Amino acid sequence: MPSFQHYSVTLLRFELIPCQKIQMKNLSLFWAFLIAISCAVVGTHPVSAQAVQQTKGDFQDKFRQLDPEDAPTPNDYRAASGAPGHKYWQQKVDYKINVSLNEATKTLSGAADITYTNNSPDTLTYLWLMLDQNDVKKNSIAELTQTTDETGRISFNQVRRAQAMRDSEGGFTITKVTNPAGAGLMFDVVDTLLRVDLAEPLQPGQSVAFKVDWTLPMRDSRLIGGRNGYECFTKADQDGNCIFLAAQWFPRAAVYSDYEGWHNKSFLGRGEFTLEFGDYEVAITVPADFAVSSTGDLVNANEILSPAQQERMAKARASYRDPVYIVTPQEAAAAEKAKAATTKTWRFKAQNVRDFAWAGSRKFIWDAMAVKQPGANDVMAMSFFPKEGDPLWSAYSTKSIAHTINVYGRLTFAYPYPVAQSVNGPVGGMEYPMITFNGPRPEKDSAGNLTYSDRSKYGLISVIIHEVGHIWFPMVVNSDERQWTWMDEGLNTFLQYVAEQEWSEAYPSRRGDPRDITEYMRSSNQVPIMTQSDSVQRLGDNAYGKPATALVVLRETVIGRARFDRAFKEYATRWRFKRPTPYDFFRTMEESSGTDLDWFWRAWFYSTDHVDISLTNVREGTIDTQNPDIESARRIAERDAKPIELGQLNNKGMKIYADNDPSVLDYYDRTDPLSPTKGQKTRAATARAALSPEERAVLDVKDRFYILSLENKGGAVSPVILKFTFKDGTSDTVAIPAEIWRYDARKVNWTYMTAKEVSQVELDPRQETADVDRSNNYFPTRIEPTRLEVFKAAQGPRNQMQDNDLAVTQESTQTKPAVSPKAGAGATGAGGATGARPNR
Ligand SMILES: [Zn+2]
Repeated sequence: MPSFQHYSVTLLRFELIPCQKIQMKNLSLFWAFLIAISCAVVGTHPVSAQAVQQTKGDFQDKFRQLDPEDAPTPNDYRAASGAPGHKYWQQKVDYKINVSLNEATKTLSGAADITYTNNSPDTLTYLWLMLDQNDVKKNSIAELTQTTDETGRISFNQVRRAQAMRDSEGGFTITKVTNPAGAGLMFDVVDTLLRVDLAEPLQPGQSVAFKVDWTLPMRDSRLIGGRNGYECFTKADQDGNCIFLAAQWFPRAAVYSDYEGWHNKSFLGRGEFTLEFGDYEVAITVPADFAVSSTGDLVNANEILSPAQQERMAKARASYRDPVYIVTPQEAAAAEKAKAATTKTWRFKAQNVRDFAWAGSRKFIWDAMAVKQPGANDVMAMSFFPKEGDPLWSAYSTKSIAHTINVYGRLTFAYPYPVAQSVNGPVGGMEYPMITFNGPRPEKDSAGNLTYSDRSKYGLISVIIHEVGHIWFPMVVNSDERQWTWMDEGLNTFLQYVAEQEWSEAYPSRRGDPRDITEYMRSSNQVPIMTQSDSVQRLGDNAYGKPATALVVLRETVIGRARFDRAFKEYATRWRFKRPTPYDFFRTMEESSGTDLDWFWRAWFYSTDHVDISLTNVREGTIDTQNPDIESARRIAERDAKPIELGQLNNKGMKIYADNDPSVLDYYDRTDPLSPTKGQKTRAATARAALSPEERAVLDVKDRFYILSLENKGGAVSPVILKFTFKDGTSDTVAIPAEIWRYDARKVNWTYMTAKEVSQVELDPRQETADVDRSNNYFPTRIEPTRLEVFKAAQGPRNQMQDNDLAVTQESTQTKPAVSPKAGAGATGAGGATGARPNR
């Protein structure tokens, strides 16, 4: 327990002067006191919130409401409350697709009947669709604009990828676009977009049907990258079978929205997808021994699954704690050896989804269990994984899905689909409606035994929570990832953090704890969260970590958990199966929680400011009693407590004039100049008599007033959390709202009144505000403990003899030097027994 001997606050006495313009009598003492202080402190008045410029001084209005330049003006489609407006609309696009996988060529051939319903108030003469896999065409914007750093380094995989990109072409081949009668429609492929010209203008409220045929080579996902493709197990101890992940595999309607019209920004590989909701019927033809995981309900299970498998499925539908194998490890192992030559067609139906993905392999083990939802449909949680995924996948995948459904369902809305799936393959983590791709696998130890690290285990649970969580954001709350990655990644990472912490105690979450973001927040290599997705730097920190942490700070510190959860649920519910923008989120959170948050959005989402509040000074004040006896005694004590002036100290014992001639001593030598006079006492008594009883009581207040000086060094305004520790060992924590910074966003003073004596003040004691520098959070400041690592001085230049495995022998020491020492000493500058060194 550190003593507080080091404690030194500036002792301040202040006079209580009634503020001329304020009726102090009607105010409580504390408020009267604050007003008295602020009367002195506040010299200027802030400009009101309007489009004016601060031309005097350097006042910053961190609390200015978001202006039209920051957030579009609300309209009939998007209400000022953040809810969908009374004229909100969105398009609907339905698909009937037949697709087949050629296992040998690893190519998909598809034909889609697409019905586009125009719910907009506009007449459309053409439609845009997305061919996102065209990003791996040789001449795509994405490929041609890949930049490299200046280090000149290149990885093995980069070389192999460059070769593969040179040697083969990826992306869609659109073989035809026709109307239902089979007549061709004009179309144009613009990078990753496909424009289809309509024969007739499509009026509001009308639908149009057309058909697109295409082929699409799948790519080696680990080599080319991306969110789809195949992975083949080719090593000797494996089986040569592949896992196929089909995503962005068909022409998907681009979005036509109230705020942007056609969304025709090319896919550059980063800013993901936004799509229209619709109904799907998809027939997937694959080798007969494949298991297929897909968006939607399997509608021909009786044709596809063996009677035993159908029985297991029925058992799984009633199993709420443990998964049941639908395809057992033994069945998958047998399929891997046999390799069927025939095909089967799996038929799926999905309603109200914004995309459709699937995966197939004969390697897949398949397990399933049921998840109950309060007041809503049961969900089948299912996992598909190769034997290489076990023992991790059997243990954790399906249970992680169930956990996600429980937590996300509680915090937002019930999972709206019949199935939720996790598929293991070459993609590290990616989401689609009802289906997710998740990468982590156990690793083999040196003896060849499968084992797994805590990293693999928690990595798997976390990625499954995350990807399944995406089925809420953005698969149902359909935000625009191509513009704003954070809207789904940030919100989802926040909920992931909540779900992780509810999986086990002290779950090792990577993101969400405000302490984990401070390093990033203080760095200069960053851009605001509200940056276009494809231009974001340090995506993981920017679009995942920072917004997730912002929501944690909002939830735990700014708004409070219950009100935050209510507001967040309001947002999710309002925009369920609709298309929100960031402003709809900002507005909903603000109006639903009853908390003005423009300052928070500005700091965390519109700027690169960070939180760093510094507690620069604390002064302790007590009330001047105006009683001459008390005040004199205090002044005398203060004076006597000061060290005697050094010269006077050294003069002690010297003879002074009065020693010889005491007659020079008079009244002033006998009287302390600070002692109260009769006149002072009379005047004080008169003054006291003139005060009202309430005012007299003020003079008798014994409380201490601590005046804290705070500086905002990071730029972001923040609530100020202060922990006061008293000399008696007790403490008091005060949470001051961010509005403390409204008059001056850089520097403020704030007063704390207490009957106790304070020994220490600490800012943000629970480290909840993401304050990046804690060294300025204490008053008095603390000595920072650190551990000094003892190390050996670095080795000198390496020993070339040793590097060549040469022992010290006669021969090695007498090897003829490259240059004769006699001849070359001057020229080489080396000399010595072994002669000159060749240049390095
Ligand atoms: Zn994500």
